[in-house]
Amino acid sequence: MPEWFVPASTESRGPLARRPEAVGSRAAIGSAKCAPRPRRTIAPNMRHLLGLQLLPATDLRELLSRTQRAKAGPAASDPLASRPLAGRLVANLFFEDSTRTRNSFTAAAYALGAQVIDLLGSSSSVNKGETLIDTARNVEAMGVAAMCVRAKQSGSAAMIAKGSGCPVINAGDGKHEHPTQGLLDLFTIAESFDRLGSFDLSGLRVGIVGDVASSRVARSAIAGLLTLGATVTVVGPPGLVPGGLASAASHDLDEVLPTLDAVMMLRIQFERHSDAPPPQGAAVSRGSSIASVREFRSFYALTAEREARMKPHAIIMHPGPINRGIELDADVADGPRSVILRQVSNGVFARTAALAWCCEAH
Ligand code: ASP
Ligand code: ASP
Repeated sequence: MPEWFVPASTESRGPLARRPEAVGSRAAIGSAKCAPRPRRTIAPNMRHLLGLQLLPATDLRELLSRTQRAKAGPAASDPLASRPLAGRLVANLFFEDSTRTRNSFTAAAYALGAQVIDLLGSSSSVNKGETLIDTARNVEAMGVAAMCVRAKQSGSAAMIAKGSGCPVINAGDGKHEHPTQGLLDLFTIAESFDRLGSFDLSGLRVGIVGDVASSRVARSAIAGLLTLGATVTVVGPPGLVPGGLASAASHDLDEVLPTLDAVMMLRIQFERHSDAPPPQGAAVSRGSSIASVREFRSFYALTAEREARMKPHAIIMHPGPINRGIELDADVADGPRSVILRQVSNGVFARTAALAWCCEAH
Protein backbone atom coordinates (compact mmCIF):
# COMPACT_ATOMS: atom_id res chain seq x y z
CA MET A 1 0.00 0.00 0.00
CA PRO A 2 1.53 3.37 -0.84
CA GLU A 3 2.15 5.43 2.26
CA TRP A 4 -0.16 8.20 1.08
CA PHE A 5 -3.22 6.00 0.90
CA VAL A 6 -5.18 4.36 3.66
CA PRO A 7 -8.04 2.16 2.41
CA ALA A 8 -11.62 3.04 3.22
CA SER A 9 -12.21 -0.22 4.95
CA THR A 10 -10.45 -3.48 5.55
CA GLU A 11 -13.28 -5.53 4.08
CA SER A 12 -12.32 -7.05 0.76
CA ARG A 13 -13.90 -5.51 -2.27
CA GLY A 14 -14.42 -7.56 -5.39
CA PRO A 15 -15.08 -6.07 -8.77
CA LEU A 16 -17.93 -3.59 -8.62
CA ALA A 17 -18.10 -3.98 -4.86
CA ARG A 18 -20.75 -1.75 -3.38
CA ARG A 19 -21.11 -0.18 -0.02
CA PRO A 20 -24.25 -1.69 1.51
CA GLU A 21 -25.79 1.69 2.17
CA ALA A 22 -25.36 2.70 -1.45
CA VAL A 23 -27.45 -0.02 -3.00
CA GLY A 24 -30.72 -1.71 -2.48
CA SER A 25 -32.44 1.04 -0.60
CA ARG A 26 -35.15 3.05 -2.24
CA ALA A 27 -33.44 6.26 -1.25
CA ALA A 28 -30.22 5.25 -2.94
CA ILE A 29 -31.91 4.28 -6.16
CA GLY A 30 -33.61 7.68 -6.24
CA SER A 31 -37.30 7.09 -5.71
CA ALA A 32 -38.14 8.64 -9.04
CA LYS A 33 -40.85 11.25 -8.61
CA CYS A 34 -41.31 11.04 -4.85
CA ALA A 35 -40.31 14.21 -3.09
CA PRO A 36 -38.84 15.35 -0.81
CA ARG A 37 -35.78 13.15 -0.79
CA PRO A 38 -33.84 12.56 2.38
CA ARG A 39 -30.52 14.26 2.74
CA ARG A 40 -27.87 11.55 2.47
CA THR A 41 -25.03 11.32 4.90
CA ILE A 42 -21.65 10.43 3.52
CA ALA A 43 -19.96 7.46 5.15
CA PRO A 44 -18.06 8.83 8.14
CA ASN A 45 -14.72 7.66 6.84
CA MET A 46 -14.94 9.50 3.51
CA ARG A 47 -15.07 13.12 2.43
CA HIS A 48 -16.00 15.45 -0.40
CA LEU A 49 -13.73 17.99 -2.10
CA LEU A 50 -16.05 20.83 -3.05
CA GLY A 51 -13.77 23.85 -2.93
CA LEU A 52 -10.59 25.37 -1.55
CA GLN A 53 -12.30 28.34 0.07
CA LEU A 54 -13.29 26.50 3.23
CA LEU A 55 -10.57 23.88 3.19
CA PRO A 56 -8.37 24.01 6.30
CA ALA A 57 -4.69 24.75 5.63
CA THR A 58 -3.66 21.35 7.01
CA ASP A 59 -5.89 19.56 4.50
CA LEU A 60 -4.62 21.73 1.66
CA ARG A 61 -1.00 20.97 2.52
CA GLU A 62 -1.84 17.29 2.90
CA LEU A 63 -3.38 17.19 -0.59
CA LEU A 64 -0.35 18.96 -2.03
CA SER A 65 2.12 16.66 -0.38
CA ARG A 66 0.14 13.64 -1.65
CA THR A 67 0.31 15.22 -5.11
CA GLN A 68 4.07 15.36 -4.68
CA ARG A 69 4.21 11.73 -3.60
CA ALA A 70 1.93 10.66 -6.45
CA LYS A 71 4.28 12.40 -8.86
CA ALA A 72 7.36 10.78 -7.31
CA GLY A 73 5.69 7.36 -7.61
CA PRO A 74 4.22 5.22 -4.84
CA ALA A 75 6.79 3.94 -2.37
CA ALA A 76 5.40 0.42 -1.95
CA SER A 77 7.10 -2.35 -3.92
CA ASP A 78 3.99 -4.45 -4.60
CA PRO A 79 2.38 -3.06 -7.77
CA LEU A 80 -1.07 -4.07 -6.53
CA ALA A 81 -0.54 -2.11 -3.36
CA SER A 82 -0.38 1.11 -5.31
CA ARG A 83 -3.87 0.55 -6.69
CA PRO A 84 -6.10 1.27 -3.71
CA LEU A 85 -9.28 1.62 -5.80
CA ALA A 86 -8.75 -1.68 -7.63
CA GLY A 87 -12.10 -3.24 -8.45
CA ARG A 88 -13.98 0.01 -7.81
CA LEU A 89 -15.76 2.37 -10.16
CA VAL A 90 -15.24 6.12 -10.39
CA ALA A 91 -17.90 8.16 -12.20
CA ASN A 92 -17.26 11.27 -14.26
CA LEU A 93 -20.49 13.26 -14.38
CA PHE A 94 -19.72 16.07 -16.81
CA PHE A 95 -22.61 18.30 -17.80
CA GLU A 96 -20.30 20.86 -19.38
CA ASP A 97 -17.45 20.57 -21.91
CA SER A 98 -14.03 19.53 -20.74
CA THR A 99 -10.86 18.10 -22.23
CA ARG A 100 -8.17 18.29 -19.58
CA THR A 101 -10.17 17.87 -16.42
CA ARG A 102 -12.23 14.86 -17.42
CA ASN A 103 -9.36 13.00 -19.01
CA SER A 104 -7.06 13.66 -16.11
CA PHE A 105 -9.67 12.40 -13.64
CA THR A 106 -9.84 9.29 -15.80
CA ALA A 107 -6.05 8.92 -15.80
CA ALA A 108 -6.03 9.43 -12.03
CA ALA A 109 -8.74 6.82 -11.48
CA TYR A 110 -6.79 4.33 -13.61
CA ALA A 111 -3.63 5.09 -11.64
CA LEU A 112 -5.53 4.10 -8.49
CA GLY A 113 -6.76 0.90 -10.12
CA ALA A 114 -10.38 1.98 -10.64
CA GLN A 115 -12.52 1.69 -13.73
CA VAL A 116 -14.38 4.74 -15.01
CA ILE A 117 -17.97 5.46 -16.00
CA ASP A 118 -18.37 8.59 -18.13
CA LEU A 119 -21.70 10.31 -18.10
CA LEU A 120 -21.65 13.34 -20.38
CA GLY A 121 -24.33 15.87 -21.15
CA SER A 122 -24.42 19.56 -21.72
CA SER A 123 -28.12 20.31 -21.81
CA SER A 124 -29.61 22.40 -19.08
CA SER A 125 -33.13 23.18 -17.96
CA VAL A 126 -34.98 25.21 -15.39
CA ASN A 127 -35.37 22.03 -13.44
CA LYS A 128 -31.72 21.10 -13.80
CA GLY A 129 -31.12 20.92 -10.07
CA GLU A 130 -33.53 18.03 -9.75
CA THR A 131 -32.13 16.40 -12.86
CA LEU A 132 -28.58 16.57 -11.56
CA ILE A 133 -29.48 14.98 -8.26
CA ASP A 134 -31.54 12.26 -9.91
CA THR A 135 -28.72 11.46 -12.27
CA ALA A 136 -26.13 11.42 -9.53
CA ARG A 137 -28.20 9.19 -7.27
CA ASN A 138 -28.76 6.72 -10.05
CA VAL A 139 -25.06 6.61 -10.85
CA GLU A 140 -24.27 6.25 -7.17
CA ALA A 141 -26.67 3.33 -6.99
CA MET A 142 -24.40 1.49 -9.39
CA GLY A 143 -21.90 1.31 -6.56
CA VAL A 144 -19.35 3.95 -7.49
CA ALA A 145 -16.52 4.79 -5.12
CA ALA A 146 -16.61 8.52 -6.00
CA MET A 147 -18.22 10.99 -8.37
CA CYS A 148 -16.36 13.79 -10.19
CA VAL A 149 -18.96 16.41 -11.06
CA ARG A 150 -18.76 19.25 -13.59
CA ALA A 151 -21.80 21.46 -14.16
CA LYS A 152 -22.75 24.95 -15.28
CA GLN A 153 -24.51 25.85 -12.08
CA SER A 154 -22.52 27.26 -9.17
CA GLY A 155 -23.18 25.09 -6.14
CA SER A 156 -24.14 22.01 -8.13
CA ALA A 157 -21.40 19.77 -6.73
CA ALA A 158 -22.37 20.73 -3.18
CA MET A 159 -26.00 20.05 -3.98
CA ILE A 160 -25.16 16.59 -5.29
CA ALA A 161 -22.91 15.95 -2.31
CA LYS A 162 -25.84 16.64 0.02
CA GLY A 163 -28.00 14.20 -1.85
CA SER A 164 -25.55 11.35 -2.22
CA GLY A 165 -23.73 8.94 0.04
CA CYS A 166 -20.40 8.70 -1.77
CA PRO A 167 -17.54 11.19 -2.05
CA VAL A 168 -18.10 14.00 -4.54
CA ILE A 169 -15.25 15.95 -6.13
CA ASN A 170 -16.17 19.27 -7.65
CA ALA A 171 -14.68 19.29 -11.16
CA GLY A 172 -15.86 22.85 -11.77
CA ASP A 173 -19.24 24.37 -10.85
CA GLY A 174 -20.21 27.46 -12.82
CA LYS A 175 -18.30 30.53 -11.69
CA HIS A 176 -17.78 29.14 -8.23
CA GLU A 177 -14.83 26.75 -7.72
CA HIS A 178 -12.55 24.28 -9.47
CA PRO A 179 -10.60 22.88 -6.52
CA THR A 180 -8.48 20.29 -8.35
CA GLN A 181 -7.41 22.98 -10.84
CA GLY A 182 -6.49 25.05 -7.78
CA LEU A 183 -4.42 22.17 -6.40
CA LEU A 184 -2.52 21.68 -9.64
CA ASP A 185 -1.91 25.43 -9.92
CA LEU A 186 -0.58 25.64 -6.35
CA PHE A 187 1.56 22.57 -6.86
CA THR A 188 3.02 23.92 -10.11
CA ILE A 189 3.91 27.23 -8.45
CA ALA A 190 5.49 25.46 -5.47
CA GLU A 191 7.44 23.21 -7.85
CA SER A 192 8.63 26.14 -9.97
CA PHE A 193 9.91 28.08 -6.95
CA ASP A 194 11.38 25.20 -5.01
CA ARG A 195 8.71 25.27 -2.31
CA LEU A 196 7.73 21.59 -2.42
CA GLY A 197 7.53 20.04 1.02
CA SER A 198 6.80 23.23 2.92
CA PHE A 199 4.29 24.57 0.40
CA ASP A 200 4.97 27.95 1.94
CA LEU A 201 4.44 30.48 -0.84
CA SER A 202 5.16 33.59 1.20
CA GLY A 203 7.18 36.21 -0.62
CA LEU A 204 5.70 35.23 -3.99
CA ARG A 205 3.42 37.62 -5.86
CA VAL A 206 0.94 36.00 -8.22
CA GLY A 207 -1.10 37.95 -10.78
CA ILE A 208 -4.38 36.55 -12.09
CA VAL A 209 -5.25 38.37 -15.28
CA GLY A 210 -8.41 38.70 -17.35
CA ASP A 211 -11.93 37.49 -16.72
CA VAL A 212 -11.61 36.96 -12.99
CA ALA A 213 -15.29 37.63 -12.36
CA SER A 214 -16.41 34.56 -14.31
CA SER A 215 -13.57 32.31 -13.24
CA ARG A 216 -13.92 29.35 -10.91
CA VAL A 217 -10.21 28.74 -11.57
CA ALA A 218 -9.42 32.15 -10.08
CA ARG A 219 -11.63 31.63 -7.04
CA SER A 220 -10.00 28.32 -6.13
CA ALA A 221 -6.49 29.59 -6.88
CA ILE A 222 -6.94 32.76 -4.84
CA ALA A 223 -8.24 30.83 -1.83
CA GLY A 224 -5.33 28.39 -1.93
CA LEU A 225 -2.67 31.01 -2.64
CA LEU A 226 -3.77 33.18 0.26
CA THR A 227 -3.85 30.15 2.57
CA LEU A 228 -0.26 29.33 1.60
CA GLY A 229 0.96 32.88 2.17
CA ALA A 230 1.29 34.24 -1.38
CA THR A 231 0.26 37.75 -2.35
CA VAL A 232 -2.37 37.80 -5.09
CA THR A 233 -3.25 40.67 -7.41
CA VAL A 234 -6.20 40.32 -9.76
CA VAL A 235 -5.84 42.36 -12.94
CA GLY A 236 -8.38 43.20 -15.64
CA PRO A 237 -10.98 45.69 -16.82
CA PRO A 238 -13.30 46.99 -14.09
CA GLY A 239 -16.23 44.83 -15.17
CA LEU A 240 -14.19 41.63 -14.94
CA VAL A 241 -12.33 42.19 -11.68
CA PRO A 242 -14.38 41.95 -8.51
CA GLY A 243 -12.96 43.78 -5.52
CA GLY A 244 -12.23 42.08 -2.22
CA LEU A 245 -11.35 38.70 -3.70
CA ALA A 246 -7.55 38.91 -3.54
CA SER A 247 -4.82 40.90 -1.76
CA ALA A 248 -5.20 43.66 -4.37
CA ALA A 249 -6.98 44.50 -7.62
CA SER A 250 -5.60 46.51 -10.54
CA HIS A 251 -6.75 47.65 -13.95
CA ASP A 252 -3.21 48.27 -15.17
CA LEU A 253 -1.36 45.15 -16.30
CA ASP A 254 1.67 47.11 -17.51
CA GLU A 255 2.20 48.55 -14.05
CA VAL A 256 1.74 45.25 -12.19
CA LEU A 257 3.49 42.83 -14.55
CA PRO A 258 7.13 43.63 -13.64
CA THR A 259 6.35 42.89 -9.97
CA LEU A 260 4.92 39.40 -10.50
CA ASP A 261 6.59 36.02 -9.95
CA ALA A 262 3.78 34.07 -11.59
CA VAL A 263 1.18 35.28 -14.06
CA MET A 264 -1.98 33.26 -14.50
CA MET A 265 -3.78 34.25 -17.68
CA LEU A 266 -7.49 33.51 -17.96
CA ARG A 267 -9.72 32.95 -20.96
CA ILE A 268 -12.62 35.37 -21.40
CA GLN A 269 -15.60 33.21 -20.46
CA PHE A 270 -18.00 34.49 -23.08
CA GLU A 271 -20.33 31.60 -22.41
CA ARG A 272 -20.90 32.94 -18.91
CA HIS A 273 -21.47 36.54 -20.01
CA SER A 274 -24.58 35.91 -22.04
CA ASP A 275 -26.33 33.13 -23.91
CA ALA A 276 -24.98 34.12 -27.29
CA PRO A 277 -21.37 33.60 -28.43
CA PRO A 278 -19.54 36.78 -29.42
CA PRO A 279 -19.85 37.84 -33.02
CA GLN A 280 -16.65 37.50 -35.02
CA GLY A 281 -13.86 39.97 -34.53
CA ALA A 282 -13.88 42.83 -32.13
CA ALA A 283 -17.45 43.07 -31.01
CA VAL A 284 -18.63 41.11 -27.99
CA SER A 285 -21.98 39.64 -27.16
CA ARG A 286 -24.71 41.57 -25.42
CA GLY A 287 -24.30 41.25 -21.68
CA SER A 288 -20.54 41.01 -21.87
CA SER A 289 -18.53 43.11 -19.43
CA ILE A 290 -15.94 44.26 -21.96
CA ALA A 291 -16.33 46.77 -24.75
CA SER A 292 -14.44 44.80 -27.38
CA VAL A 293 -11.99 41.95 -27.68
CA ARG A 294 -9.55 44.25 -29.49
CA GLU A 295 -9.58 46.70 -26.61
CA PHE A 296 -9.26 43.93 -24.05
CA ARG A 297 -6.29 42.57 -25.94
CA SER A 298 -4.51 45.91 -26.16
CA PHE A 299 -4.64 46.38 -22.39
CA TYR A 300 -4.58 42.88 -20.96
CA ALA A 301 -3.11 40.34 -23.39
CA LEU A 302 0.23 38.80 -22.54
CA THR A 303 2.12 39.62 -25.70
CA ALA A 304 5.80 38.95 -26.44
CA GLU A 305 6.48 42.62 -25.85
CA ARG A 306 4.92 42.53 -22.39
CA GLU A 307 6.55 39.21 -21.58
CA ALA A 308 9.96 40.84 -22.09
CA ARG A 309 9.21 43.13 -19.13
CA MET A 310 8.57 40.31 -16.67
CA LYS A 311 10.99 39.37 -13.88
CA PRO A 312 13.70 37.04 -15.19
CA HIS A 313 12.46 34.00 -13.26
CA ALA A 314 8.72 34.68 -13.58
CA ILE A 315 6.47 31.93 -14.93
CA ILE A 316 3.39 32.01 -17.15
CA MET A 317 0.36 29.85 -16.41
CA HIS A 318 -3.02 29.21 -18.04
CA PRO A 319 -5.70 26.68 -17.09
CA GLY A 320 -6.63 26.03 -20.74
CA PRO A 321 -8.24 26.15 -23.13
CA ILE A 322 -6.11 29.05 -24.44
CA ASN A 323 -7.59 31.50 -26.87
CA ARG A 324 -4.33 32.14 -28.67
CA GLY A 325 -4.09 35.67 -29.94
CA ILE A 326 -6.64 36.97 -27.47
CA GLU A 327 -5.39 36.73 -23.87
CA LEU A 328 -2.09 35.06 -24.73
CA ASP A 329 0.20 35.15 -27.77
CA ALA A 330 1.17 31.82 -29.28
CA ASP A 331 4.94 32.24 -28.86
CA VAL A 332 4.48 33.29 -25.24
CA ALA A 333 2.24 30.27 -24.56
CA ASP A 334 4.89 28.00 -26.05
CA GLY A 335 7.91 29.93 -24.76
CA PRO A 336 10.44 29.08 -22.05
CA ARG A 337 8.54 30.77 -19.20
CA SER A 338 5.38 28.83 -19.92
CA VAL A 339 4.51 26.04 -17.45
CA ILE A 340 1.14 25.41 -19.09
CA LEU A 341 1.78 21.82 -20.12
CA ARG A 342 3.40 21.11 -16.75
CA GLN A 343 0.12 22.25 -15.20
CA VAL A 344 -1.68 19.64 -17.31
CA SER A 345 0.73 16.87 -16.24
CA ASN A 346 0.47 17.88 -12.60
CA GLY A 347 -3.32 17.76 -12.94
CA VAL A 348 -3.20 13.98 -13.12
CA PHE A 349 -1.19 13.78 -9.87
CA ALA A 350 -3.38 16.35 -8.11
CA ARG A 351 -6.50 14.40 -9.08
CA THR A 352 -4.92 11.12 -8.04
CA ALA A 353 -4.26 12.68 -4.64
CA ALA A 354 -7.76 14.14 -4.42
CA LEU A 355 -9.55 10.90 -5.35
CA ALA A 356 -7.52 8.85 -2.88
CA TRP A 357 -7.95 11.45 -0.12
CA CYS A 358 -11.72 11.53 -0.59
CA CYS A 359 -12.10 7.74 -0.58
CA GLU A 360 -9.78 6.84 2.26
CA ALA A 361 -10.42 6.25 5.92
CA HIS A 362 -9.43 9.01 8.29
N1 ASP B 1 -9.50 23.18 -18.62
C1 ASP B 1 -10.90 23.07 -18.86
C2 ASP B 1 -11.40 21.91 -18.08
O1 ASP B 1 -11.44 22.02 -16.92
C3 ASP B 1 -11.31 23.07 -20.25
C4 ASP B 1 -10.79 21.96 -21.03
O2 ASP B 1 -10.03 21.16 -20.54
O3 ASP B 1 -11.20 21.84 -22.17
O4 ASP B 1 -11.76 20.88 -18.53
N1 ASP C 1 -10.86 25.06 -17.98
C1 ASP C 1 -11.08 26.06 -16.99
C2 ASP C 1 -12.41 25.86 -16.36
O1 ASP C 1 -12.99 24.83 -16.54
C3 ASP C 1 -10.87 27.41 -17.51
C4 ASP C 1 -11.64 27.77 -18.72
O2 ASP C 1 -12.55 27.05 -19.13
O3 ASP C 1 -11.35 28.82 -19.26
O4 ASP C 1 -12.89 26.72 -15.68
